[in-house]
Parts: sequence; structure tokens; C-alpha cells
Amino acid sequence: MIMTSDSGEAAPKPMRPAEIVEDEPPPSGCTLPSPAPAIPIGSPKKWDDWRWQMANRIRSPQQLLRFFPELRNGSDLTPLVSKYPMAITPYYASLIHEANPGDPIFQMAVPQMQELIDPPFLSPDPLEECHDMPVPGMVHRYPDRALVIATTMCSTYCRHCTRKRVAGTRETSISKRRLEQIAEYLQQHPQIHDVIISGGDPLTLRTDQLEMILSRIRQVPSVQIIRIGTRVPVVLPQRITENLCRMIQKYHPIWINTHFNHPRELTPESTQACQMLANAGVPLGNQSVLLKGINDRPQIIEELCRGLVRNRVRPYYLYQCDLVRGVEHFRTRLSRGIEIMEYLRGRLSGLAIPLFVVDAPHGGGKIPVLPTYLVTQSPTHTVLRNYEGMLIAYPEPHEETMGPVEEPKPESSPGVWEMLDGQNSVIRPEQSVRLTRRRQCCPAGNLSEGVE
Ligand code: SF4
Repeated sequence: MIMTSDSGEAAPKPMRPAEIVEDEPPPSGCTLPSPAPAIPIGSPKKWDDWRWQMANRIRSPQQLLRFFPELRNGSDLTPLVSKYPMAITPYYASLIHEANPGDPIFQMAVPQMQELIDPPFLSPDPLEECHDMPVPGMVHRYPDRALVIATTMCSTYCRHCTRKRVAGTRETSISKRRLEQIAEYLQQHPQIHDVIISGGDPLTLRTDQLEMILSRIRQVPSVQIIRIGTRVPVVLPQRITENLCRMIQKYHPIWINTHFNHPRELTPESTQACQMLANAGVPLGNQSVLLKGINDRPQIIEELCRGLVRNRVRPYYLYQCDLVRGVEHFRTRLSRGIEIMEYLRGRLSGLAIPLFVVDAPHGGGKIPVLPTYLVTQSPTHTVLRNYEGMLIAYPEPHEETMGPVEEPKPESSPGVWEMLDGQNSVIRPEQSVRLTRRRQCCPAGNLSEGVE
């Protein structure tokens, strides 16, 4: 159990409710008992068993109140959790210092009534994944990559989840038949070299279930790397076992992207989980989401990135919060992200600086957003600035050494200008291979069709 955080700050002991009920883990992995056991607390041996953690997740407002009696006078969360399910592993609940929204772990794990307040520009699927789904359960957006929805289950349902519309609404996993259809699609599209296993959280699957997916995808010769997107090292580090690592090693190259948002999540357990994966030869990246009141101060992201690199996890992306229903209270201004990036540059090595991206609405994909380092340009010099504000003239190569220069074509279609005052919200390239495929294959796809 965790008693200290990586930052040296004292962490409280896991809160123990008045009545202790110990439940056996389910015999075959992560199937959720229904109803879930009431009280998530057990002996240290059970505590370290990931199946026990799964079986004893906090799933209902009643269980939440028994764990945090100080919430008794708050709102009734029943309608909220029936719309957006709740699950919190006892481990992750033990990281909560105070049961109020000032605590970052509390905010990320415990439902808040603000989730029901949605401005009209939000949507359940702002990234339009459902429309880029030529096979149910597989998103094909970029030419060389595809994403497989392996399960709709997570050990902890993050309140800021971008797939809130599916995560936990039914706890299911991909069927053999669906996996076969996906493998056939990959076979027919050899330009796909990189397959991301996502969900839900694929590491909540039993090891044999996950192995079935990895081995089938590995059989497609054109697939070069397989990536797993998971928050398990953060919210259920007990799941990273020797057995799991041994299985993963058989299917290398496997990369894992995890999802730490706050330095308080860097505990002895979670860092050990990362180290076990790194020792198994898995390159680790981290994808954080910029969340208001949680990690939207530059110093917090700096501490997080330092801690990640120290544990062999490369900060990969810092995401602007998506325009998804139920998460508006977490959204910051874009300018906040740019300020953070401005702060990090020069203070941290490039290795520790993530790329700040907006995953664009309308299925536009990830767009990097940076402070402006290019001040101005002439044919002979480019003026750059560094993080201190120093301006440097960078001399361009002489024309005679450059060969013929292609003249830029005149702009023929107006467009971006109209977006500045809101007359137009999207410009789509009509000749895009992806959009053509989308029109042909999945005019009205449904993400939840991907699992059975
Ligand atoms: S683990 Fe990932 S998919 Fe699951 S709720 Fe959290 S962000 Fe969503």
C-alpha cells in the first residue's frame, strides 16, 4: 500500500469504512459481480491482487458514501452515474487526500453534478470516431494507423474521459468474430503499419483475452508495431504482473501509452508498474489531458514530466480537453496550454516536454499547438526567438546553392478567413482518401457496435 507519494509529500492511509467486508476475487479475472461488493477494503495480500481491486471497485453512490461519509450532505449522484458510470479502484480511492473538488484525484475519479451541464457546442463524439469506423470496433483515421476498441470496460472511469459515451455503459469486450473482421481489414490494407489497442482499457482484460488480440494482429505481416493505450499503471498498477509482462514480450514490438495527469499519481506502485513494463522492453509514453483545477499550472506539469522521465516514461502528448459532453467543467482555455508550453521550454529537456495538441472536432485529428518561435522571415534571414525572448537572425542558404525555387500557387479558394468570424466551422478536403472511404463504408457508424 502507498504511504508516501513520489514528490515526498505524505499521503494518507487508505480510508477504512466502519464495517469491513472482504470479498473473494472473481475466479476468472475481471468480470464485475452484480451488484458489486459493498466495501472496498481487504488484507494487504488481497489489496495487491488486481482481480480483488477490480471486484471491489466503488460502483454506486451508496458505496461512495461508505468510503467517504463526509459526502453525505451532497447531491444524490444516482441519476448522474446511471448516465455516466462510476468505478474507482480501492487503490485509486486511497490516493484521495480530501473528499472535495480541491483534491485532484477526487476530481478525476468522483462524479460531479456539473457533468450534466453541457453547452450546445459539445457532442458525445466530437472526434467523429463513429464515422471513421469501416469495421465496427475499429477506427481508421490516419493512413498508416488504426485503433481497435478492445473493450468498453475500465478499472476506474475517469470523469474527463473522451469516450464517455461508451466507457462503462456496457462492460464488454471484443468478440472473436469481430477480431477476425478487423484482422481481415488490416490484411486488406497493408498501408496500416501501426495498430493501437484501446477501449475502454485493454489491460482490464484477462491476460489470455489480451493475448488473443495481440497474437491475431501480429499475424498480419504488414502490421509493424502494436500500441496499447491504458490507464491501468495509474489506477490499477497491481495489474502489471510478471505474467502479463512475459506475455506482452512475446509480441514485440509493443509500445504502451499510459495516462498520468498529476504528480500525485506517481506512487511507488505506479512507478514500479512502469518499471516492470520498461524492463520487459516496452517503450512507454504518456498522454496527459489538461484539466482545469487539476494540472493547469505549469509547475504541476513540470513536476509530472520530470517524474515520468525519471521512471522511463516519455511525456508524449498534452491534450487539450475535447469538446465532449460531460467534461466542460474540466476545459481550460487553449491559451493556458500555450502558457504551459512556454514555461516548459528551456526549463526541461526536450525529452521531457510533451507536444500540446488539440484533437480537432469533426474528426480533424491531432493538431499541435505551440508558442510562436518564428518571429519573421525574409528570403535571406529568418528571425527566431528562444524561451528567454532572445531574438536570433538565422541566415538562409544563398539562392545559387538552393536550385530552382517553386513559386507558390495563388490562393484559389477563400476559406480560413471566413472561419475567423464564425461564418464557417470546418473546411474538408474533398479528395481526402479517408473521407472518401468514410462516405463509402460508414455513413452512420456506431462506436458501440464494435463490441459484443
Ligand atoms: S481509462 Fe481511458 S477510456 Fe477508461 S475512463 Fe479513463 S480515459 Fe476513459
